[in-house]
Amino acid sequence: MLVLKFGGTSVGSAERIKEVEKLVNTPGSKIVVLSAMSGTTNKLVEIANYLYKKNNEGANELISSLEQDYYEVVKELFSTPEYIEKGNELIQSHFKYIKSFTQDLFTIFEEKAILAQGELLSTALFHYYLSEQNIPSVLLPALNYMRIDKDGEPDLLSIKENLKKELANHPKQTLFITQGFICRNAYGEIDNLKRGGSDYTASLVGAAILAQEIQIWTDIDGMHNNDPRVVEGTKPLANLSFDEAAELAYFGAKILHPASVQPAKVENIPVRLKNTLQPEAFGTLITSQTNGEGIKAIAAKDDITAIKIKSGRMLLAHGFMRKVFEIFETYKTSIDMITTSEVAVSVTIDDTKYLKDIVDELKKYGTVETDEDLTIICIVGDFIAESKGYALTIFDALKNIPIRMISYGGSRHNVSILVNTKYKKEALTSLNSTLF
Ligand code: ADP
Ligand code: ASP
Ligand code: MG
Repeated sequence: MLVLKFGGTSVGSAERIKEVEKLVNTPGSKIVVLSAMSGTTNKLVEIANYLYKKNNEGANELISSLEQDYYEVVKELFSTPEYIEKGNELIQSHFKYIKSFTQDLFTIFEEKAILAQGELLSTALFHYYLSEQNIPSVLLPALNYMRIDKDGEPDLLSIKENLKKELANHPKQTLFITQGFICRNAYGEIDNLKRGGSDYTASLVGAAILAQEIQIWTDIDGMHNNDPRVVEGTKPLANLSFDEAAELAYFGAKILHPASVQPAKVENIPVRLKNTLQPEAFGTLITSQTNGEGIKAIAAKDDITAIKIKSGRMLLAHGFMRKVFEIFETYKTSIDMITTSEVAVSVTIDDTKYLKDIVDELKKYGTVETDEDLTIICIVGDFIAESKGYALTIFDALKNIPIRMISYGGSRHNVSILVNTKYKKEALTSLNSTLF
């Protein structure tokens, strides 16, 4: 069985949806994971923001405009009056539901229910389209099997069990469609796997059914060696190891959700990145194999905050680091980079929800400084310990850029450098021309 995930652009119009049909209507069993049509989740977030502010007029205007867009999609997608009517009814019922939230108390629970509508709509429309084309398929409701636990982590056991049950209801079927992104949490409420989470759904589904391969279909011909949104002339990489791909995804390569490599890696399932706009392009194949040593790619993660704790008295005393890390653990805030000197330790975080509390507690142990608007530049490859010269090449490329922190040797796949975000473009461009 294969898992094929199509992102927002790949289902972004009636025309694109019709192309997806061609890519999935091939021999062999598969589960097709769809994102919301591109732009929809952003609009739903905006609608929720109006509802939080009790601006019903603003919300209604946006809801109606999005609803109209969907009637246009229905008109272009379906060719028979029967399916045009079915499509219109579907749109009407989802938007009636969204509008119902303008009357009540609005909290994070309602917001999550609204955000789920994008994937519910795209999958239902695609399912109708297939049935209009007489292509048998089954719609698997992600809310019946995709689960996160109390800590917001996927509950793999229950995902596996629930998904198997869902599939067992349709033993003769070979084409399944399901929603990316959405799930239920430990309390049974509608939740999601965070923005860009459909990649994560695909990987979790792939791992749950031990798929032959997980394919992530998007709008670019694979993982590029640098951020194509920032640097010109980037190139696709044919092969990456799970570890290399995971580092790139975690450190900002938007083509993959930060956590999406892990479930595939655990079950050793190849992940293939493919371009719906250019299906013949090879794309990128991610497997357990490393493919040659050396620097392969660069990614950048913005919105980083650095925290420096200075404490001449305490730092070298044993147990100091544990106390520092316990504070981050208490506030469920993960650390990306760490550097130490004799008198200070610096760490970076990307989630600043509890920054104030963390800083308050750290002050027990020393003077604390924070620094915002930083970017981690992550250079990924296979850096074998005995090889020489990588650091020199990297720092030569960055010789004109003030560097805030450096992390080298944490793993053999990653060199991380912290700079002020205003230097990001210059740093990525200079690294691109020096390294590749
Ligand atoms: P989808 O909607 O299909 O999930 P995304 O927008 O989430 O697509 O991810 C694809 C985009 O990721 C590309 O259009 C590209 O701009 C961006 N991107 C950022 N870094 C990279 C990279 N290293 N390689 C490829 N794409 C990247
Ligand atoms: N629709 C969701 C988002 O825009 C999930 C995804 O596209 O992967 O974040
Ligand atoms: Mg994405």
